[in-house]
Amino acid sequence: MSITRTDLEALDRADELAPLRELFTIPEGVIYLDGNSLGALPKATPARVAEVVQREWGQGLIRSWNDAGWMATPARVGDKIARLVGAPAGSVMVADSTSVNLFKLLGAALAARPGRRVIVSERRNFPTDLYIAEGLAALLDQGHALRLVEPGEVAGAIGEDTAVVMLTHVNYHTGAMHDMAAITAAAHAKGALMLWDLAHSAGAVPVDLAGCRVDLAVGCGYKFLNGGPGAPAFLYVAPRLQEELRYPLTGWLGHAAPFAFETGYRPGQGIARTMVGTPPVLSLAALEVGIDIALRAPMEQVRAKSVQQTTLFAALLEQAGAPWGFRLASPRDAARRGSQVCLAHDQAYAVMQALIARGVIGDFRAPDILRFGITPLYTRYVDLFDAAAALRMVMVRGEWQAPEHRTRRAVT
Ligand SMILES: *Cc1c(COP(=O)(O)O)cnc(C)c1O
Repeated sequence: MSITRTDLEALDRADELAPLRELFTIPEGVIYLDGNSLGALPKATPARVAEVVQREWGQGLIRSWNDAGWMATPARVGDKIARLVGAPAGSVMVADSTSVNLFKLLGAALAARPGRRVIVSERRNFPTDLYIAEGLAALLDQGHALRLVEPGEVAGAIGEDTAVVMLTHVNYHTGAMHDMAAITAAAHAKGALMLWDLAHSAGAVPVDLAGCRVDLAVGCGYKFLNGGPGAPAFLYVAPRLQEELRYPLTGWLGHAAPFAFETGYRPGQGIARTMVGTPPVLSLAALEVGIDIALRAPMEQVRAKSVQQTTLFAALLEQAGAPWGFRLASPRDAARRGSQVCLAHDQAYAVMQALIARGVIGDFRAPDILRFGITPLYTRYVDLFDAAAALRMVMVRGEWQAPEHRTRRAVT
């Protein structure tokens, strides 16, 4: 039974989340399927950023640290993110980049489990997560090592020697999603701490950090939270650990009394001690607009639409791509899939470039993956039909063979 464009138009008409698309700038002629890499621009963001620049900075000047609440913004916006990931108020801080937050939390986790030397992770975790662990282990010079396994082997790889299990909840490459509750419980059963990377989860799939008794988490502001390029990231520390943990980056804003300007470091209270330096106020203003939109969409509805869209899109792409040997590279079982669909093909790079030239924007992940992110806040059902039709045309007409589509650019 084949799916028609009319079927998908009907789904768009019935979609309760459809009006949210109006809150975003989506350029004419573009089908944007890369919100998992850089979320689209909310229409309210330019005015909000201009207000912070002109009124708060321009007029308020340094007074705005107090008067406009700049200093409290990282924790205040963190509390909003907490609502998206099942965390209590006071457990999430917006700070730094995901990479830097990984360093901070991983360092704290290793210090909290002295005598244990193993970090368990997945071989195909996002590289920065592994690189940060590698660099931290080298810096500590105490024999810490990464134990890298396949996704299905994680629970079995956790032992009495494991200090921390560090995983990305939804894999960037395949969209495969781990069972957060089960793996967290497996880590705890061996006395290890659990650190989740929510880069492809926050705002995209339901996350229950408190319910799963997760210890630590990090996440990204510029993907499904639509915070803009290089938006600040966030981190989560379970309240039960907040007074115990010590972070390896001890900056003045994590101090108990930053404006006492003491000579020695004393950690601040609770989540506050995870801060390092001065918050990026302009970027935080942009991020908050994206998060406010995410908070308007009930997560059960977002997930239901995402599951339906990824399921339909996988079927459409397989149908369109079958004659040219495209293979579905994301899990077939929707319960194990995040909000993306991936195809594997040996000409993936050139095919994606040709799709982008047709206005269908996804991305390429080495060595052979075409990756399409689904953002239920603004992806329409008809977009999926049109994107699959574009893939067919790119292949039928051999557009991918054009020389300009075969030259790799710096950012893929
Ligand atoms: C996108 C992503 C990051 C990004 O880290 P940055 O420090 O923001 O560059 C980290 N981890 C994962 C799993 C990601 O998908």
